[in-house]
Amino acid sequence: LLQLAMPLNFLGFVYREIRQALIDMHTMFELIRQDLEIKDADGASELAVKGAEVRFEDCLFGYDARRPILKGISFTVPAGKKLAIVGSSGAGKSTISRLLFRFYDLDGGKITIDGQDIAAVTQASLRQSIGIVPQDTVLFNDSIYYNIAYGRPSASREEVEAAAKLAKIHDFILSLPDGYESVVGERGLKLSGGEKQRVAIARTVLKDPSILLFDEATSALDSKTEREIQASLNDVSKDRTTLVIAHRLSTVVDADEIIVLEQGQVVERGTHRGLLGQKGHYAEMWQRQLEVAEKSEDVAVPTLKN
Ligand code: ATP
Repeated sequence: LLQLAMPLNFLGFVYREIRQALIDMHTMFELIRQDLEIKDADGASELAVKGAEVRFEDCLFGYDARRPILKGISFTVPAGKKLAIVGSSGAGKSTISRLLFRFYDLDGGKITIDGQDIAAVTQASLRQSIGIVPQDTVLFNDSIYYNIAYGRPSASREEVEAAAKLAKIHDFILSLPDGYESVVGERGLKLSGGEKQRVAIARTVLKDPSILLFDEATSALDSKTEREIQASLNDVSKDRTTLVIAHRLSTVVDADEIIVLEQGQVVERGTHRGLLGQKGHYAEMWQRQLEVAEKSEDVAVPTLKN
């Protein structure tokens, strides 16, 4: 038996090694696939932005071909208007913003900006025209000045400070002992979620994009921070085509259109008033959040999270 155990053990070892190698190869091909997916098309032109109308036409997408995430999404954000996307966790909201930025290509349908297919233009020109304010901004281990100026490294000091003022973070920065030279990030000053988001807003103001993608924080912010972020977002999004992944009622109320996403499909669309009248998903979400807000006095602004 002992004589048999040794070779069997060895075979087991070989089997595990081969299996691991196959998994590694699979991972490698996945990485190559992702890399290939974001190559510029041959002869790709520069995106020519006029008003920046954003259109999703019957968009199909899955990170894995076996599991569709977006199942035929269509919407249009007219130039300078604001679209709010709401829906439960995992519905595909962030996926929409990743596709607009072309981190991935669609499996079907198309996305256009001012009529130009985003897969046919250079990624550099596409990404230049879009400013993203993510939920959780990663700050560089550098001065707060550098972190804002990153939006447009050629900006002057006056422009950086003007952007910080618009994002309502200038006074906070001046209150720090080292002002704009304060080092932030992992090994420096830890900023709160709201402060980080305002740094990201300032960065975006400097970049001056035609399209703004705003991924609202899901966590509850105190009401003052909430109002300040809201006010700076309103200033920044003026005259820009804005897509916001919204978790707060205050954001959706004034959106030109709201789409409600469930499991990769648009189940309702309309304005806040129109959707309340439909007495469907949205009206239910609104009602539920109002109840949560009433119960918890601390959360000044209810969130739209399910
Ligand atoms: P939340 O409100 O929780 O942020 P969401 O509506 O933004 O959710 P998405 O992030 O768009 O949801 O994710 C949609 C689905 O796609 C989820 O089921 C998620 O597990 C899956 N998914 C997201 N990113 C990836 C990825 N990189 N690879 C594989 N699957 C992913």
